[in-house]
Amino acid sequence: MRYLAISLCLLAVSLAIFCDFNATPAVTAPTQFHVVLDAGHGGHDNGATVAGVSEAQINLQIVKVLARELTAQGIKVSFTRVDEESLNSPYASNKKVDDMNKRRAKIRELDPDLVIAIHQNTYPLTSVSGLQCFYANETAGSREYATAIQDQFNHSGLPMYKTVKPTDFNLVEHSPCPAVLIECGFLTNPRERKLLQTSAYQQVLAFHISTAVVRMMKQGGNERCVTNVQPSAMCSVLS
Ligand SMILES: [Zn+2]
Repeated sequence: MRYLAISLCLLAVSLAIFCDFNATPAVTAPTQFHVVLDAGHGGHDNGATVAGVSEAQINLQIVKVLARELTAQGIKVSFTRVDEESLNSPYASNKKVDDMNKRRAKIRELDPDLVIAIHQNTYPLTSVSGLQCFYANETAGSREYATAIQDQFNHSGLPMYKTVKPTDFNLVEHSPCPAVLIECGFLTNPRERKLLQTSAYQQVLAFHISTAVVRMMKQGGNERCVTNVQPSAMCSVLS
């Protein structure tokens, strides 16, 4: 009888061990890729204003279209600003510095995988036009994202100004994660100023930025967000 009891105990222990080894391993849900979009300027600071067209306003419009594109690709999107207001205190002695500090603090708090800052360019010569990407000089990965976005613009036939460049100014300075700054075009170029105000061209820009970001994610082995990226038929607005 004693031997039977011991045998039963051993059987129970064996079953317990067997069941434990055969338990379904816990599946860790992949973390959603997270992008913070920064619409440059706002509030007291309109950025460039040319012929009554405000850079701050166009930046916000493009950011909102880009947010929709990225969200459609399964990417989590956050913003530094969602309306026309800047982040600085109205009592700050230097509103620009306070605004930048608060945007950086917000980005640190959100802890994203990527920051994309949207701006518009100006130049004394009105014939100058095109896009240009800058990247956070001191943050690993920034150059790769900026190059991918600029390559995407190049391949799509969008007008380019200059090649990707490092920068240590503006929001991307001391970025805690990869950060790129896109100068979408020149407000001083009459044709480009007109294009940049259209929802069709804003959609083209957003599509190509989003396509480049998704491709980078895929290369990084992060395929959870990748869906069907269809070639854009919207480049006709350029002609
Ligand atoms: Zn700007």
